[in-house]
Formats: sequence, structure tokens, C-alpha cells
Amino acid sequence: MPFVIHGQPVSNGIAIGYAHLVSHALLEVNHLVVAPRHVDAEVVRLEDAAAKVRFELRAVKESATAAQSEVSAFVDLHTLLLDDPLLVATACKLIRERRCNAEWALVQQMELVVEQFEAMEDSYLRERKADVIQVVERVLKALLGHPSSVAPKQSKTKDELGSIVVAHDLSPSDTINFKSNKINGFVTDVGGVTSHTAIVARSLAIPAVVGLRHIRHTAREDDIIIIDGTRGVVIIDPDERVLEEYRLRRSELELERTKLKRLTTTQSRTLDGQVVSLQANIELPRDVASVKEVDADGVGLFRTEFMFMNRETLPNEDEQCEAYRNVLKALPGHPVTIRTLDIGADKYLDTSSPRSSTNPALGLRAIRYCLAEPQMFLTQLRAMLRASMVNPGKLRILIPMLAHAHEIDASLRAIEDAKAQLREEGIKFDENIPVGGMIEIPAAAMCLGIFTKRLQFLSIGTNDLIQYTLAIDRADEAVAHLYDPLHPAILRLIAQTIQAGTKAGLPVSVCGEMAGDPAYSRLLLGMGLRNFSMHPSKILEVKQEILRSDTEVLAAKVQKLLKLDEPDKIREALEKL
Ligand code: PEP
Ligand code: MG
Repeated sequence: MPFVIHGQPVSNGIAIGYAHLVSHALLEVNHLVVAPRHVDAEVVRLEDAAAKVRFELRAVKESATAAQSEVSAFVDLHTLLLDDPLLVATACKLIRERRCNAEWALVQQMELVVEQFEAMEDSYLRERKADVIQVVERVLKALLGHPSSVAPKQSKTKDELGSIVVAHDLSPSDTINFKSNKINGFVTDVGGVTSHTAIVARSLAIPAVVGLRHIRHTAREDDIIIIDGTRGVVIIDPDERVLEEYRLRRSELELERTKLKRLTTTQSRTLDGQVVSLQANIELPRDVASVKEVDADGVGLFRTEFMFMNRETLPNEDEQCEAYRNVLKALPGHPVTIRTLDIGADKYLDTSSPRSSTNPALGLRAIRYCLAEPQMFLTQLRAMLRASMVNPGKLRILIPMLAHAHEIDASLRAIEDAKAQLREEGIKFDENIPVGGMIEIPAAAMCLGIFTKRLQFLSIGTNDLIQYTLAIDRADEAVAHLYDPLHPAILRLIAQTIQAGTKAGLPVSVCGEMAGDPAYSRLLLGMGLRNFSMHPSKILEVKQEILRSDTEVLAAKVQKLLKLDEPDKIREALEKL
């Protein structure tokens, strides 16, 4: 039976493929189909593993001294959870019903139980979900000690259609390799439109829908799934007629994309002759291929943190320098804006365990992290400076998440320290590298003088500016409906920044997702924006908007729009731009 679910559309396009169910990153287990004759053995395997853990827990308790009453209490709690019929006993039922392997059944069941704990009002009980996970991890370890007799599933069919990843949640580092792994798209239970996972999906041009709530429990391995990443619709097990309709729509989209390609070499100029720079956002050096494909005016944002993720050791100075050089070399004559590490919040390094912070987006992130890790910062700055000689005058350094004057001063001092070291070592670098700051915290947008006095360019990060102004986590689907780029406060902060920055003689760009959404192109032009930076896949669509715009007409209309407070009136005015 076909099944339709609606979620948050985060990356356009249609993808069709076989469901590939992925478990919690921590408890990565394969889904296997058990032959009917092995089902009983699989149930016994799980029961044996649980018994083994029960025995282990008893041993821990017995070895605990009288003074270790906490150990005793925790063992009691874990034993209680292990014996809860909702966990192992229900997982055994699942093995029989779905003919799946024990590991899979257990993790499925664990996720249901975890969800119940998450919904509890009492914060102590809510935190007990971590204990459930620990118990399950113990059982999984015990299971691995008894190798499974289940043969791995053949996946011949996947070669022909490709697969669609179905997960509860995915991290940006999970998604970055999807393209090379023949993954056509992904769908998740949680997540928001401007989470970094969604940004990676867009930059890879992989259709994706997030915030589907129960897709992980609804879809089954190898179900055919259609993702309509433009409308936020996911269809599980479609019939032939629906499949045909979506195949047709996918070809139409491809045709539209082909038509847009004709604009590749057209200069991005408005009807009244204003030249507008359209630059690209990249995550990895290899992304320059798509930057060249659309003939972008350089790189407006290189999110270097992606080079640091998914690896056991951090890239050293030479490796980083080589990567930055390669980007500059690939784009001769074009500016390349390299942002210093923006680690933290939903992006973390494998080399350090994620800090448990109640509000990671408000924690040690981006420049705060770099200033707290001076050696790591210095290494990156030295690598950037050394790379600048490939194309003198083209490399620009961008600092994320600045709010305070002292953070700007400390960043500039770090750059000076790196320069002094290189001079001493006789290593050449471009002496006049422009240093810019991201305007993505409301405090920065409201006190722009601090920035214009100290820096050479500004780049507005609308993703974080919206998150921090409206106090909503950009990665949390529960508040996704409150993420509104058209909130009057957001519009005023952006317009104010463009105006004040331009008046101070600094180039101002927007590199957040708003810059790549053609629905906002005319609005931003009317605010006076002349530098846009977006994922390369969006450049031609935005160019199409630029070509049919007259900035003088737009400026007058946008002035009026900025005075409006009522959301409906703002949307109406936007449509009439
Ligand atoms: C932004 O915040 O708008 C931005 C461009 O930076 P990131 O999305 O990497 O936080
Ligand atoms: Mg940001």
C-alpha cells in the first residue's frame, strides 16, 4: 500500500530508490532478513545475550564495595531496564513478526523506549534514556560475541535504482559521502531546513526531506521510496502509476536545469546595468568542480570545518595549505573566501568527543572554539597565509560568529602572530589579505561600527542570524515552523547591515541560505545587496532573477516593505516585488 508522509523540504528535486534503513550513529547495526527456520535461533541469541548481561551486571554489583552505593544503584537500574518487557521481550516479538536479526530488533525497540523517556516531563526520568542506550549497547556487545548465523542480505536491486537513506537523524559528516556511495536522497525523523546536514544535502544536490517524525519506523528495508524534495513529500511503496508520474516530473526538472544552463556564461547584470557578483559556498576542495561548472564569480564561503570532520587526525598545516592552494589554483582570477574553522553546535570533530552542553549553538563554537584552541587556529592561519601566494590578492579570510570587539581584536592578533612566524621563517605570503567577519549574531548586526572599524569586508550568515534572533534551533524540527526569514526583525537587521556596511565602504555579501533562494533575490537586491554567495547548484536560478530585476524600482518598493510589521502584508509585498 502506498503511504504518503509530509515533512520539511530541505533539498530540491525528485529522488527514487530503495530504502536503506540506518540506525543511530552510535548503535550502527545492519538490518538482516532471517530465514523462517532461523527465527527461533535468533530469539534465543537475543535472550542469551540478555542473560549474559544480567550475569555481568550481577558481577559488577558483587564486586562493588559497600561505599560504592552509586554503582549498586546504577546496576539495579540497568537490571530493571534489561528486564523491562518493553525492551528485550518486545524485541523478541519483533524478530518473529518481522523476521529480522536480533541487533536490529533491539535497536528498533530501544528507539521507541528512548522516545517515551524523551517525552517525560520529569527531567530526571528524561535523562534515563541514556541508561536505556547503555543497556542496549551492553546487549549488542554480548550479541557480537556470538557471531550471527544470518547471511548478509544480497542487494542486487540497489545497483539499478540506487538507495534512499532512511534515518532517525544524520550528522553533516554522515551525508558528506552520500554522493560517492550511490545514495540518491535521504529522509529523517528529525532535523531543520538550515541544519548543516540539510546544507550538505543541497550542496550535493541530493533531494532530502527531514522532520518526518516516524519515517524510520514506517519504512522497511528495500521499500521503494520517492522523495519530492521541493514539496517535502515522501511516498513509500508507490504504485506503478505514481512512480511513472514522478519519473516524468524528474525528467521535467532535468529539462528545466538544462535550460538554465544556457545562462552559465551570461553576465549577472540587472536591467538597470548593476553588476551583481554571484559566488559559491563550498564545503570541500573537490566542490570547485561545481563552482566552475556554473562559472561562479569565485568562492564567497569555504566552510573549512568539513575538511576536519570524519577523520581520526586533524589535517596538518601542509595538508590544509595544499587544499587551499588547490581551490585558488582551480579558480584563477577569482576571489576565494576561506572561513576559519566553525566547529561546534551540529558540527563536531571525531578527534574530540562532543561536549555535553545544554545549548551547543550558544556554546564554544566557531571563533570561540578557535580562540580556545590557539595552536589549532595558528596552524590554520599559517596554512591560509602560505596558500595566498598562489593567487596574490585573491584569498580572503573570514571569521565566523563574532560578537565582541575583543574577539575581532584577538582574531586579528592571531593572524599577525601567524604572519610574524612566517616572516621569521622566510616564508612568503600575501601581505594584504583582506580579513572579514560573519554577521550572524544579532549583537553584531546592531553594533556594526565595531566591525567596520576593524575589518575589510562583511558577510551576513542568515542561517545563524535567524536562529539567534528568533531563538530557535535551526536543526530542531519541533520549532522549524518558527524559522522565518521574513520576520520583520530579520529583514531589518539584514537591510541595516547592508546599508551601514556599504556606507562604511566595505563590501557586504550574504552567504546564508537566503542568498541561494530565488524567492528572496529581488528583496535582497532592493536592500542594496550586490554580492551573493550560495551553493553552486543555485547560482543559475538566482541569476535568472537578477537578469529580470531593476534595482532602482526594487529599492523604492523594499523601503516600503521594511516598514511593514504584519507577516501577511510582508508576504504580499514580497510577491509584488
Ligand atoms: C550562516 O550562518 O548563515 C552561514 C553561512 O554559516 P553556517 O551555515 O555554516 O553556520
Ligand atoms: Mg553560521
